Amino acid sequence: MEKRTKPILVTRSSLPPYEEFAEMIRPIWDTAWLTNMGDYHKELERQLKAYMGIDNLVLFVNGHMALEMAIQALELTGEVITTPFTFASTTHAIVRNNLTPVFCDINPEDYTMDADKIEALITEKTSAIIPVHVYGNFCQVDRIEEIAKKHHLKVIYDAAHTFGETYRGKSAGAYGDASIFSFHATKVFNTIEGGAVAFREEWMDHRLNCLKNFGIVDQDHVVWVGGNAKMNEFQAVMGICNLRHVDQEIEKRRLVTERYLERLEGTKGLKLPHVQKDVKPNYAYFPVVFDGFACSRDEMWRYLGEHQIFARKYFYPLTNEFQCYEGHFTSQTTPVAKYIGDRVMTLPLYADLALRDVDEICSLILGRA
Ligand SMILES: *Cc1c(COP(=O)(O)O)cnc(C)c1O
Repeated sequence: MEKRTKPILVTRSSLPPYEEFAEMIRPIWDTAWLTNMGDYHKELERQLKAYMGIDNLVLFVNGHMALEMAIQALELTGEVITTPFTFASTTHAIVRNNLTPVFCDINPEDYTMDADKIEALITEKTSAIIPVHVYGNFCQVDRIEEIAKKHHLKVIYDAAHTFGETYRGKSAGAYGDASIFSFHATKVFNTIEGGAVAFREEWMDHRLNCLKNFGIVDQDHVVWVGGNAKMNEFQAVMGICNLRHVDQEIEKRRLVTERYLERLEGTKGLKLPHVQKDVKPNYAYFPVVFDGFACSRDEMWRYLGEHQIFARKYFYPLTNEFQCYEGHFTSQTTPVAKYIGDRVMTLPLYADLALRDVDEICSLILGRA
């Protein structure tokens, strides 16, 4: 096969037509209002609530700060049950709030937290569960809610991968006490950098808005030890523009995903993703587990790289294997996550990925089968 000159990266950011963005930022030069909950910020908040069909949502500068501040708003203490099969953000947000993550293993079907293993990890110090809808796969939300109710625990979903999805017709933002979204450039819907907390109870609205603006309530009152996590007007404009096109983008991702499935289905030693029952998917990722394939995940990752195809070992290493947590946590307590993390790779997937490029990637993989 000819060596390609242009690399294919694992993802490529969605951008609206340039004129659309340019036209919308023009008025900012008249108002000179750049940040601090301006008109575009309010408008994007309104549109996102409508898009998700939910009542409560607060925007943030990114998904990570959304998670940190959801944790602070709910005043979690002690231990938090979570998953190591995720992006660094989930575990770091817990640790940076002086809480102790307790790692629950994942299930080998959809890689979300194994709900059957949660209760054994609950102690008198446990205050919450922070599961992740990893790759856009919904957690066992009913089981998790039942357990949380029984033990009086809060639930915050890391829904960073779940934008635009529904489970039984309800948006990902409608589950748990709160769900956090990431609108990072690499996600299905982006505001360049950005994020949001969706939540069940209305009182959180005021608290989250205070927390993201230094805890300031008004000129005379600072009532929370807050930080700075406000989304600015340029980010909000990018969001408003991208939101107009996100459904088409998801549809294009579907075509890419189906092409991968068509080409790779039935190959010995490859475990492919599938859409869960009752879920409307967003086709955010295409994770493949190399288990019993002719070569290992790492060999395939290198081989694709030699052909200018840059897949990612997502999620490897597990967060409980990070160097910064050495001596504190270990992946020995989560053997399924360890097994999957050592074998999984996400293939390039974005709306504008050409189907002939998908074919090329699949041919390379099948050539090693
Ligand atoms: C992207 C991501 C985050 C963090 O979001 P940012 O917007 O990049 O801060 C958190 N959790 C998961 C699972 C993610 O993929």
